[in-house]
Amino acid sequence: MHDTTDRTLGRLRRFVDEWLLAAQYRHRAALEVTSWEVPDEPVPFSQAIQGRYRPHPTGTPWGKPWGTVWFHVTGTVPPEWSGEIGAGQVRPELVVDLGFSGANPGFQAEAIVYSAEGEILKALEPRNQYVVLPAAAGDRIEVYIEAAANPDVPQGSFTKPTTMGEKSTADPSELYTLRTVDVALLDVPVWELVQDVTALGGLVEELSAQDPRRGQIVAALEDMLDAIDPADLPGTAQAGRAALATVRSAPAHASAHCIHAVGHAHIDSAWLWPVRETVRKCARTFANVLALMETDPDFTFACSSAQQYAWIEQYYPELFVRIAEKVREGRFIPAGGMWVESDTNMPGGEAMARQFLEGSGYFLDTFGVETTDVWLPDSFGYTGALPQIAAAAGKDAFFTQKMSWNDTNAMPHHTFDWEGIDGSRIFTHLTPVDTYNSDLSARELARAQRQYTEKGRANTSLVPFGHGDGGGGPTREMIAAARRTADLEGSPKVVLSSPARFFAAARAEYTRPPVWSGELYLEYHRGTYTSQHRTKAGNRRTEHLLREAELWAATATVRTGAAYPAQDLQRLWRTVLLHQFHDILPGTSIAWVHREAEQRYTETIAELEQIIATALAALAGEGTEEVTFNAGPFPRGAVPALGAGAAAGTADDGVTDLVRDDTGVVLDNGRLRVGIDGRGLITSVLDLRTGRQALPPGQVAGLLQVHRDIPNQWDAWDIDEHYRRNVRDLTEAISIQEITDTSGGAGVQVQRRYGDSRIVQRYLLPDGARRVELTTEVDWHERHTLLKLAFPLDVRAEQAASEIQFGHINRPTAANTSWDHARFETVAHRWVHVGEPGYGFAVANDSTYGHDITRTTRADGGTTTTVRQSLLRAPMFPDPDADQGRHTLRSSLVVGAEIADAVTEGYRINLPERTVSGSGAVDPLVQVSDPAVVVEAVKLARDGSGDVIVRLYESRGGRARATVTPGFQATGALATDVLERPGTDRGVEVDPDGRVELDLRPFQIVTLRFGRP
Ligand SMILES: [Zn+2]
Repeated sequence: MHDTTDRTLGRLRRFVDEWLLAAQYRHRAALEVTSWEVPDEPVPFSQAIQGRYRPHPTGTPWGKPWGTVWFHVTGTVPPEWSGEIGAGQVRPELVVDLGFSGANPGFQAEAIVYSAEGEILKALEPRNQYVVLPAAAGDRIEVYIEAAANPDVPQGSFTKPTTMGEKSTADPSELYTLRTVDVALLDVPVWELVQDVTALGGLVEELSAQDPRRGQIVAALEDMLDAIDPADLPGTAQAGRAALATVRSAPAHASAHCIHAVGHAHIDSAWLWPVRETVRKCARTFANVLALMETDPDFTFACSSAQQYAWIEQYYPELFVRIAEKVREGRFIPAGGMWVESDTNMPGGEAMARQFLEGSGYFLDTFGVETTDVWLPDSFGYTGALPQIAAAAGKDAFFTQKMSWNDTNAMPHHTFDWEGIDGSRIFTHLTPVDTYNSDLSARELARAQRQYTEKGRANTSLVPFGHGDGGGGPTREMIAAARRTADLEGSPKVVLSSPARFFAAARAEYTRPPVWSGELYLEYHRGTYTSQHRTKAGNRRTEHLLREAELWAATATVRTGAAYPAQDLQRLWRTVLLHQFHDILPGTSIAWVHREAEQRYTETIAELEQIIATALAALAGEGTEEVTFNAGPFPRGAVPALGAGAAAGTADDGVTDLVRDDTGVVLDNGRLRVGIDGRGLITSVLDLRTGRQALPPGQVAGLLQVHRDIPNQWDAWDIDEHYRRNVRDLTEAISIQEITDTSGGAGVQVQRRYGDSRIVQRYLLPDGARRVELTTEVDWHERHTLLKLAFPLDVRAEQAASEIQFGHINRPTAANTSWDHARFETVAHRWVHVGEPGYGFAVANDSTYGHDITRTTRADGGTTTTVRQSLLRAPMFPDPDADQGRHTLRSSLVVGAEIADAVTEGYRINLPERTVSGSGAVDPLVQVSDPAVVVEAVKLARDGSGDVIVRLYESRGGRARATVTPGFQATGALATDVLERPGTDRGVEVDPDGRVELDLRPFQIVTLRFGRP
């Protein structure tokens, strides 16, 4: 037989483009449109309908960037359509084209449609432009359309600086031109034929030329084309569909991959739009979902992020009632159980726990729904602490997609047990479709099947479908695609499903999955640990202030009966949790988002300081003695951990001497002797106890280094490896002056200039300390420049320990494998430790996350291990002014440090003591007998019972036995989960008087709940 496949497919393309798509609507009639432009920020419906509306015919521009225009649309369903409507197979719809561009849904104009009475009907999006009108011929139509003139910020490039990220800098020209506002008559059989042709035509593209199935489908498509009269599609569409019936009904191969298609909308809680727009994006997306549920009884939708439900509850109560009803029906499915889809690299341990406490707590309190999965398709890598935290929050499954973005190595598994740093394991699935925004096209389904790595042992994957990033959600076309591929020869089998159903099926077929141990390091977006430093500093500061506020408020309640500010603390936690969203804390949002984030942090800090001050005043009582409060988990001098006392003076022999000689300055406190040369660089750090020199010969510590930092693709996201090869050391000083510290210690202050930037470095050797403290004040005006602070150390560290949540992770310092090589920039929380057996160093910080740690062998045969902190960047997209302006960063180098010293220093540098006037000591609410077991949080229970909650963990990576003794009359104690419900008591034994004996495995987290009379 002659092969005419190409000509048949060419004929099909012309038929689809020129006749079929246009014939989906049989008739159209234009409606009357008037408009009112909102003066500034969005207003609610009740206010919008009071606006002064003016005629706005199609063809008229609208919408300044970030502006809102309300359209009032009126008209009637043409009476002459009554015959066709009466005959069925057709449906009147409102069809609106706001002037949509080719940009993706969620990255341009969007709108929500209200009835004249203010009920939300549905949204309008670029590829979803209809609203079903339950109207008969002759019926009057009246709707309001709230249209958002959101700009396409990237315009196809994630590197070019843009002014669109702020209302104040955006060009105020109108962005869109209203194109269509019609009532139109949908021809349902023609629409169904479009779906048939899309599914089968797409499948043809995925099948090999030798596959008999491909030939059969092409022949059927040819028969369809022959059966249809393009001039009479309404009359011949059914005949065309009939020609496809046989190939449509051929069942899938017995071995076909099984895809659980989960309706979803990835809605970034802020990104290339501000938080306030996300609130409206949620409303639009959820309105689309509810509209689909009306027309399709089988359709379900999985939605993560309690914050997004809470926004709807607050701003769209009517919509929320309808969502809650669908949640009760099991169709609108809360997923994930976190407050937002947070970054997991940078949030601290307690904050990660609170993401689950607030998220899952909200789902339980609001809907009575217990979520059992972790849903993080898009965050930039996953901490090795997550399996244990998730398990402690009652989760047993984890879903993501982002690891497919690795730039070097492909993950070997799609379904596996992921093992965290403590040994906890969580059943994990990385979708092989490599997107969380699938359209269920034949191409994407085939990709999922092709790439799936568990073939032979398992055969099931999860594919989230629906427009995402900027929301939009599933469309009726996607559901049509799912129906056609439920059991279709040549295609994977698609079942409309939920996360829970997927995980049950995947677990059942894969009883011995492979194991991945340690972090899921994303080999990409390595700049996200550093970009937008003020946002990161705000996160670190507020996390520690929340610890202090809860600790002192709880202590004040137990000790003095003061009221516990539970609601304020919850609100402030939720603010901090929101800003840990995976495009805010990583520094990858527009200027508007980061400006607001900094503002929110400033307000949050002020409120927390007030809560702390109130609690301290209550605890310190009346008096004029100096009372020092220590919120850290370790005693400081005479001041107990988690309590208050009189600060001890420094012993005389520990006072730092400063001696000036011809090489510079020497600081000596009897423990360390630190040399600083005439350039203001640390040339020597001598450990006087051991005689060991910390620095390699000829090298200097505290060295600032600037690198050209121009990533290939994603400006704020990426540090590319080539940055290393362009470096300049900042060794010139403008001035050097001696300083002393009021709390004891001496050092020098060095002024430097680089480009348009000014830098003040302060080195301080505190009295009696084994550490050098460094403060770097920068007024930063560089672009595409990475500022690093280097600590070259004379130590052969095989691996570096970096603090993460509730513990640390060891990463090799060599780059033997492609995995090691790709890990050239890494995240650490408060400290990094490098060492040899018996001797090491800690490098700690108060607001830095990005690090690189490398190792070289010197000519003298010794090894230099260099720890560098990534202080600042200056990417130019999406915020052209990222990191410009003033920053203060504190660091410290601890000499002769074990892991335990690093842990201690991490808390010290982030939790300064507070001294107030009062009348005496405050006993801690709890005492722990073993310093390896660290108290991470002390608070009152979320249920308002007054019970005291204490979260602890083993901090060194070893076994620990400890006694936890309540410092108040406890009526008993029990181990709980993160949600403060009775949980696993492995390793926990409670005495009748509330004393708890702990027997912990490495890095084990324990949450204890102490009852009070
Ligand atoms: Zn995202």
